[in-house]
Amino acid sequence: MAHSPSSQATETGVGVSLSEKLVEHIRDNGPLTVAEFMGACLYDPDDGYYATRPSIGGANADFLTAPEASQMFGELIGLWCAHEWDALGKPAFNWIELGPGRGVLMQDALRATLRIEGMHDAANVVLVETSEPLRDEQAQRVPTAEWAPRIEDAPPGPSLIVANEFFDCLPIRQFVFGEDGWHEKLVGLNEADKLTFGLSAAIPAPESDTEPGTVREIAPGLESLIYDIERRLHDAPGRVLIIDYGYAKPEGADTLQALRNHKKVDPIEAPGEADLTAHVDFSRIAQLASDANLQVHGPITQGAFLRALGIEFRADALMRANPTHTERLKREVRRLTHPDEMGALFKVICLSSPNLPPPAGF
Ligand code: SAH
Repeated sequence: MAHSPSSQATETGVGVSLSEKLVEHIRDNGPLTVAEFMGACLYDPDDGYYATRPSIGGANADFLTAPEASQMFGELIGLWCAHEWDALGKPAFNWIELGPGRGVLMQDALRATLRIEGMHDAANVVLVETSEPLRDEQAQRVPTAEWAPRIEDAPPGPSLIVANEFFDCLPIRQFVFGEDGWHEKLVGLNEADKLTFGLSAAIPAPESDTEPGTVREIAPGLESLIYDIERRLHDAPGRVLIIDYGYAKPEGADTLQALRNHKKVDPIEAPGEADLTAHVDFSRIAQLASDANLQVHGPITQGAFLRALGIEFRADALMRANPTHTERLKREVRRLTHPDEMGALFKVICLSSPNLPPPAGF
């Protein structure tokens, strides 16, 4: 994009906040789509959230993901991968993780599969990560890994791909239904030259029974991401397991959210300083994948998936090994599986090459 806020940001440079750079960009070029705004907040090379200050685990973090909440999560995903490696016929394979954060999931998955005969020798661990500070953390936990900036840069061959809380980073465009048709939500300036949300002129729409106020969200990057996955899974056998918060069917709500220090903040308030995400449209992933002749299993809830993989048995084994951890382990099982916590909002979908048996857990 010739006029993307980030390319301008690198030209104008040092000492100016992302917010100021965006204001200047909008003054010169007009409002941004929500996707352009989100892209700048997350990926601006100087000030984007992931480029500069991602903060994922621990009390002072901005957000807590499932592998950060409990070691059982990465362990069960690791054992799921062992089962699916077996289903592929135990080939040499790429064990790929998209957006590995601090590397905790892969570290736990590797530990849980140490005793699966031949698996580690067959595995080439590839971490797909753009954030430099996070690559450093991943290298400490997963020293055997190699890195690829994009999924298509991973070596060819059979693959098992895991993506936890990766798809929610894909920038979305938002459209709001009004009396006179659809309006795109935009980021512009108010009278005081501050960033503010606004709406485009109406995009004429045919007669429709859509309720005014309904929001539609589309992630323009989703199609190319699924396309890259699809090419890989058609070139050689494999599966991708996608776990994220999202909806099985669009509900018409605005799902853009900014999290800072475990609290929701106004997405427009401090660009680049908070994690900015949107709910994942699992129906769209399923549709793109089945159009591309991949097998689709799910989405099912994270709670159902982890119970099917035996989280309760894993917790019992850990409790027996160390009874003083009983209360903590019970809390972790609840956190990962209970519908009031991560159990229902988080969903799991598996896309597979044609002609493979069904994956475990679905
Ligand atoms: N999976 C981890 C981290 C989730 S946060 C966990 O569950 O704890 C999102 C992760 O995706 C971060 O590692 C972030 O740097 C990475 N990421 C975001 N957008 C990316 C992109 N376009 N390409 C590669 N990695 C990306």
